[in-house]
Amino acid sequence: MTAQPLLIALVSVQFLVHALIWAMTARMTRRWHAAEGHFALFWLLLALGLALFVPPWASGSAPRNLADLLIVAASMFEHRGLALHWGRRPGWRVYALGLATAAAVIAASFLLENGHGVRVAVVCLGCATLMLASVSLVWRFGRAATPLFAPLAAAGYGLLGAALLVRGVQALVVGATTKISIDAPGHANIPLAIAVLFVGGLINLAHIRLVLGRVLDLLGQQAKTDELTGALNRRGLLQQLEAAHAGALQGKTGYALMMVDVDHFKKINDQHGHAEGDHVLQGISASLRSAVRSDDRVGRWGGEEFCVLLPRTPLRDAEALAQRVANHVAASNSGIRVTVSIGVSEYGPADLDLKTVIRRADDALYRAKATGRNRVVTAETA
Ligand code: GH3
Ligand code: MG
Ligand code: MG
Repeated sequence: MTAQPLLIALVSVQFLVHALIWAMTARMTRRWHAAEGHFALFWLLLALGLALFVPPWASGSAPRNLADLLIVAASMFEHRGLALHWGRRPGWRVYALGLATAAAVIAASFLLENGHGVRVAVVCLGCATLMLASVSLVWRFGRAATPLFAPLAAAGYGLLGAALLVRGVQALVVGATTKISIDAPGHANIPLAIAVLFVGGLINLAHIRLVLGRVLDLLGQQAKTDELTGALNRRGLLQQLEAAHAGALQGKTGYALMMVDVDHFKKINDQHGHAEGDHVLQGISASLRSAVRSDDRVGRWGGEEFCVLLPRTPLRDAEALAQRVANHVAASNSGIRVTVSIGVSEYGPADLDLKTVIRRADDALYRAKATGRNRVVTAETA
């Protein structure tokens, strides 16, 4: 075997390795029907397609035409994988129609004088169309979440799509005579084979970047969310509190806090059962979240205790909001009588430590409990 087929075989094996990695990922994440599974198929079909470029199969032979179709099908899986990654669910019909058209044109190409050129054009134009469709996907859906990656990826896919477009049109117009092909006989087209390997590596990196980003986002989200109520958990809220406090210390805007504790919750659990108690907590979390503005933050501080961060809110406004929440909870008619006690505090210039603001809200809550519950008590600012 000369150097050229050997190099193509090497690229094919490399793509097979990509396919294995994605198959493993799809298995681990149990997402065969999502982006991960599609990327595995993309690399597998591409590897198989490339393998058919290695002798004994010569240009124009039946396996080589199958290779053309495999490469187009691979690009379809890649495009659909990207779409699934961004929550789109394109149907199969368009892809099936595209593939059937490609197959029909390849079959008909044997009746044409420029048959080989037409077959090259089918592969190049098919893949170019999908690449350009991917540019649109990356641009429309990726920009908000990945402002640095999305333009880079869109540019990469765009360049590749444009190059394939030019090559496809050229093959149609002047035929495949120029032999810009990784298996061009006589022209050891080694640079092109190396370019395919390199571009393949970049596309794989792009896939990894996307899926890893999504997984890390999800884990980060879960690490900050309370499973039962969907509010922030203590860690998530503490991060927000620390940020708000740091901002206040730098002379930006202040903030207020509400500590909310369910009254006699032990009794609710005892009388109605733990499941019903859970339900009450979910209801209170929902009431709190619907009462506050979009940049306020509600967190579950502990068992039946919630904490609400109210940025840029004067103490009196926080107190009024707390009173509304307490009234709303007491008035809600879920069959179980539930009330809450709320302590309210506000950041003051003497509060060097976040803990002092939290402690004042806690003390106020304690006074609300001690003076009869179902009420709001406000701590005076230090
Ligand atoms: P107070 O009015 O003084 O706050 O009385 P309380 O009964 O609400 O307070 P206490 O701290 O004595 O009891 C809190 C109870 O909350 C005890 C605990 O079993 C219950 N609890 C904590 N987390 C959960 C939870 O996730 N689900 C349910 N159902 N109950 C919980
Ligand atoms: Mg309680
Ligand atoms: Mg409590």
